[in-house]
Formats: sequence, structure tokens, C-alpha cells
Amino acid sequence: MKDTVYDVAIVGAGMVGATLASLLSRAGFAVALVEAVEPAEFDPGADVGLRVSAISPGSAAILQQAGAWKKITAQRVRPYRRMQVEDGVEPEPLVFDAPVFNLERLGTIVENALLQWSAWQVVSAGGLIDTYCPDRLGGIELSGPHNRVSLGSGQVLKASLVVGADGAASKVRKTLGVRQAQFTYNQHGLVAVVGKQKPNPGVAWQRFLPGGPLAFLPLADGRSSIVWTRPSAEAERMMALDDPSFIAELDAASSGWLGAIETLGPRAAFPLSMRLSESYASRRTVLIGDAAHVVHPLAGQGVNLGFADAAALAELLIATRRAGGDIGSANVLRTYDRSRRSESETMAFGMHAIRSLFAIESLAPLRRAGLALVKRSWPVRDMLLQRAAGVGANAPSLARGTTLQELMRP
Ligand SMILES: Cc1cc2nc3c(=O)[nH]c(=O)nc-3n(C[C@H](O)[C@H](O)[C@H](O)COP(=O)(O)OP(=O)(O)OC[C@H]3O[C@@H](n4cnc5c(N)ncnc54)[C@H](O)[C@@H]3O)c2cc1C
Repeated sequence: MKDTVYDVAIVGAGMVGATLASLLSRAGFAVALVEAVEPAEFDPGADVGLRVSAISPGSAAILQQAGAWKKITAQRVRPYRRMQVEDGVEPEPLVFDAPVFNLERLGTIVENALLQWSAWQVVSAGGLIDTYCPDRLGGIELSGPHNRVSLGSGQVLKASLVVGADGAASKVRKTLGVRQAQFTYNQHGLVAVVGKQKPNPGVAWQRFLPGGPLAFLPLADGRSSIVWTRPSAEAERMMALDDPSFIAELDAASSGWLGAIETLGPRAAFPLSMRLSESYASRRTVLIGDAAHVVHPLAGQGVNLGFADAAALAELLIATRRAGGDIGSANVLRTYDRSRRSESETMAFGMHAIRSLFAIESLAPLRRAGLALVKRSWPVRDMLLQRAAGVGANAPSLARGTTLQELMRP
């Protein structure tokens, strides 16, 4: 397929870009996928990685259609059926149980390395997708009915549509000149793998503390992957602590939950920000995943939003092709931009508001009232859960169980 004109050229084969490539090639589009760093083979013998994601049922359905979910679940993953939220003050936690909401599970904890490797295996098998790896985006030039994408290696690709899936520092976005509104939280997310006295029974547990939330996400071997949001200076101090001192602080912060900490792996800290692009589409080019938006990780929605972008775009392109339209037309770009930008802005501001409610002490009465409302109101809880599970009314139909074959049927 080299030296041909592609339907779609995707820059970035992270979790989101590789998933879009699989969806589109399975729907019969000619796809080029450019990735700077060849994904490392997932090693099930190595210890659990520091980066994990809570994959919603909606995202799992999308990954299933992309052909990656079976590969993922054949490895170490942990489904969770209960989510428990505490504010460190109220004695009664807020509890969400999957069966109560007619869900088989609330989500699945998966290592990012496994997600990316599984998606990469799908795209590299079968010769349906041309991969350019390792290679980098050089520039994008609008030329008639196609964009010309030049790569660092000197190769030039032509495509009706270019997709920037190249992460938060997206070169595609910069090349388009799309501006971003950015809010830096002055917080870091501290991550580590932790074993407590009692094994994690498959519960995603979160306690809101004055400096930021602390989450324990269940792993296949009974340990938990923690994400502890701390003010940046605090995070720096805590990264420098020796293991016993760090454990003492983590024990105090998670007291009452599964007993004392018995094991602690390496730690890492990631700066947290909210970034929203002013536009997700311009000049036969669209942005998906972190290239378009970065949200606070307190509800573990970042990559789930990215998978929903990928599914929504795939659905739009399939429908456009069926109608005989141009997949890079201004109309297609406008439709994608409107639907996905409003969805991720709603999520980003929702996360921002929840974070503020818990971070600003003077808002404590409002927070208590909000928690009480969620506890007693079934419709509010149901709405929140459907959204978090990625299967609400605004979710792409691939997330709600529609298959690619159904979308392609005349
Ligand atoms: C502490 C923390 C915890 C989180 N927990 C969760 C969670 O539980 N659930 C969740 O949904 N989200 C979570 N997130 C967010 C999630 O990690 C991101 O949303 C996700 O990694 C974004 O994936 P992506 O594929 O869009 O981008 P990336 O993973 O950044 O992938 C971009 C890809 O593009 C490639 N690339 C970059 N530039 C170029 C170029 N010029 N040319 C070619 N290739 C290029 C890169 O090599 C990379 O492979 C968390 C984030 C943090 C910080």
C-alpha cells in the first residue's frame, strides 16, 4: 500500500491512535499510522507497571470492536464491581455497586503498557495498516482533496483526513495553530503499587483529602495501584521520603481501609493540568485523545474520553462514506468538532468542579449537600454512573454495543 493515497493518516499510536487505526481498517479504510517510538512488548513476567487506567465498560466495548479487548483480558487485568467514595469527614461512604445499575462491572483496571501493546499487535498484524515506526511527523500541507504529511524520514504520505493522536504535546495541534486553554493545578499525581494486609476485593476506593484525592485501584494479584493527588511541593517532598516514612503517611491517609500497608513498589509523580483545545478540527485534520483535551485524573476519564473520540470519529467516517461523501469535508470536521468538544468540555469542567468542591474548605457545606443529594437521589446516581461507565445517551453507539458490521450494513 506504500506510495498510495490513504483515506486516513493517523499520527501517534498510543492507546487512542492505535485503537482508531484498528477500527478504521476493520471498516475497510486505507490507513497509515505514524509512531515515533515502537511500543515495547508487554512482559507478563515483569512487575505491574506504574501507569494503569480504569477502563469503562463503554471503552471495553470499543476495544472489543477494535479487536484488542480479547488480547487485553487474556493478560492480568482486574474488573471492579464496586466504587466507594469517602470525604474523610462523613462516616457513610458513597457506594456504587454494578448490579444495582444493571451493569456487569463498573470498569476494569488495565496497565497502559498492556493496552498499547495489544492495540499495536492488532495494527501490525494482517498487513491492513501501513505503519511508519519509528518515524515522526515533519509537517502537514493542505493540497487539494488531500493533505500531504511529511515525515522525519523524508517519506511523504497523502491522506483525505489526518488525525492527530499524538498526545498532550501534539505537534499536529501546533502545526494547525490551534490554541489551548490551560489550567495548571499545581498538583502532581503520585502513583505506586501497594499491598495492604487484606487483598483488594475488587473495589475502586477513593478518599478526598485536604490536599487532593487518594485512590486505590484493584490489581489482579490483590494489590492496588494508587493515584494520590498532592500539591506539587508536597509531592516533591513525598517522592524524596524513604519507604517507611512514605508508608507511614499513606497508612495514615488510608486508615481503616484493608488494614496496614505491607508492600510498596517504586513511586512516580506526574504533573496535573486541564487543557482544552479551542477547536478539534481544521483543514482536513482532526484531534483525538490527549492531543485534543487533558482532564484531571480524579475520575479516571482521560483515556476513556479518547476512546470515545476514536469511536465517534469512526462512526462519522463510516456514515459519510456510506452516503458517498468526502471524509475530510468541512461538514464532517464541523460535526466531529461540535459533538466531541462539548462532551469533553462537560467532563473536564465536571472534574474541575468536583476537585474544587473538595479542595476549597469554604465549600465544605456545598460539598456535603452535594454528596447527600447523590446518596439519596437514584436518578442523579444513575446519570453519574452511566456517564462514568461511558454508556450514557451521548456515548458513541460502538460504546453501547453496536458492532462495526451493523454500522457498515447498507
Ligand atoms: C496520574 C494519571 C492517572 C491517570 N489515570 C487514568 C485512568 O485511570 N483512566 C483514564 O481514562 N485516564 C487516565 N489518565 C489519563 C490517560 O493516561 C491519558 O488520557 C492517555 O494516556 C492519553 O492517551 P493518548 O493515546 O491520547 O496519548 P499518549 O498516550 O500520549 O500517546 C501519544 C502517542 O503519540 C506518539 N507521538 C507523539 N508525538 C509524535 C510525533 N510527532 N510523531 C509520531 N508520533 C508521535 C507518542 O510516542 C505516543 O505513542 C491518567 C493520567 C495521569 C497523569
